[in-house]
Amino acid sequence: SVKPTILILGAGYGGMVTASKIAKQFGSNDANVTLISKHNYHYQTTWLHEPAAGTMDPDRTRMPISSVINTNKIKFVQDEVNEIKKEENKVVLKESGEMEYDYLVTALGAVPETFGVGGVFEHAFSKWTVNGVREIKEHIEYLFAKYNNEPEPRDDYLTFVVAGAGFTGMEFIGELSKRIPELCQSYDVPKSKVKMYVIEAAPTALPGFDPELVEYAMNLLEHRGVEFKINQPISEVNAEGVVLKDGEEIKSQTVVWATGVRGHPVIEQAGFENMRGRVKVERDLRAPGEDNIFIIGDCSLIINEETERPYPPTAQIAMQQAETVADNLLALLKGSELKEFKPDIKGTVASLGGKEAIGVVGNKKLYGTSANFMKKMIDNRYLWILGGAGLMLKRGKSPL
Ligand code: FAD
Repeated sequence: SVKPTILILGAGYGGMVTASKIAKQFGSNDANVTLISKHNYHYQTTWLHEPAAGTMDPDRTRMPISSVINTNKIKFVQDEVNEIKKEENKVVLKESGEMEYDYLVTALGAVPETFGVGGVFEHAFSKWTVNGVREIKEHIEYLFAKYNNEPEPRDDYLTFVVAGAGFTGMEFIGELSKRIPELCQSYDVPKSKVKMYVIEAAPTALPGFDPELVEYAMNLLEHRGVEFKINQPISEVNAEGVVLKDGEEIKSQTVVWATGVRGHPVIEQAGFENMRGRVKVERDLRAPGEDNIFIIGDCSLIINEETERPYPPTAQIAMQQAETVADNLLALLKGSELKEFKPDIKGTVASLGGKEAIGVVGNKKLYGTSANFMKKMIDNRYLWILGGAGLMLKRGKSPL
């Protein structure tokens, strides 16, 4: 009999863990499996605030896909997915045209959400990808270099605005605030000239997080010179900086956008019912009404039954979904029953630069160095899941 074809779209947390689990669990006669992604490397999105601020080499966040996935078992195609034609069981790729599938796993990740604020894509940095964060880092360094060479000192060169006090925004300002003294030193700029703002529309930073930990984080960052503007929506980003809803203007040449994400545009294009590009998947992680399409990671939406609200999209959930999808694909091939996905939230830890972090693990609150230790363990655990002890030792972070 002909082997069925499985296509996995996207080599992020969801796609990589699906592929690696299939490589381990499937027999060579079970299916032809192809992983399709834009780059020939996998990158860890959850590390990107570090290279963005220049506290980590961007190359440390990425690894060749062939170094972690057994490409004898899983074929890899480097290409961009432009379209899913679900009625025809085909995907359309930018370079290599159409590919047919029997089963599809969509794990294309997310794109920035602007909430209709104008000027974001033209004037702010919003790409949380390897190449996107390189641009942020180089831009900041360039402005520091330029500052002393202008006829009139330009304060907007040294004013940094982060839009959004969610996880990404807080982790980024944590790194940047840690790096600023170093940049001032090497570029011969007085530290008092540097301004850092975090602007948040919601009534609190890190909405949904433990208030005591939020206060700890804000105090710490304020000590490093960060000014918070909470409950103050941005109404526009322009070439001069940002305009707030109350009319205040902040002049800045560096606006970093981190107000949250929506699912990949291919989801909407394909005609799946969605909320902000995310598909509310069935318990077995298939798209509603689709027998052969799984959607995971930031393109999917899962309701937390305790709060009746969607879980925020995280790498943690994407990886857990990937494990269930690999099992459910095998179940479909064997004609056995599919599993129901249940997230098992082990905890959430946000780094704040240097050896600082905050988090909740189980029901324990963690601050400072113990949270920082936990964060590194989480990062290392991912590498373990993906590529075993070898990958963890080679690519992991020292917990000390
Ligand atoms: P991704 O990991 O983003 O992978 C998507 C993949 O698809 C990428 O490889 C991309 O190149 C590829 N792709 C995109 N478009 C195409 C296309 N058209 N064709 C082909 N390939 C394409 N989550 C946590 O759990 N803990 C954290 O501490 C945490 N910290 C974060 C910090 C930052 C700075 C950011 C930005 C996010 C953080 N997150 C964290 C969220 C987490 O990164 C995402 O939830 C997670 O990456 C989602 O996984 P995914 O597989 O859906 O997508």
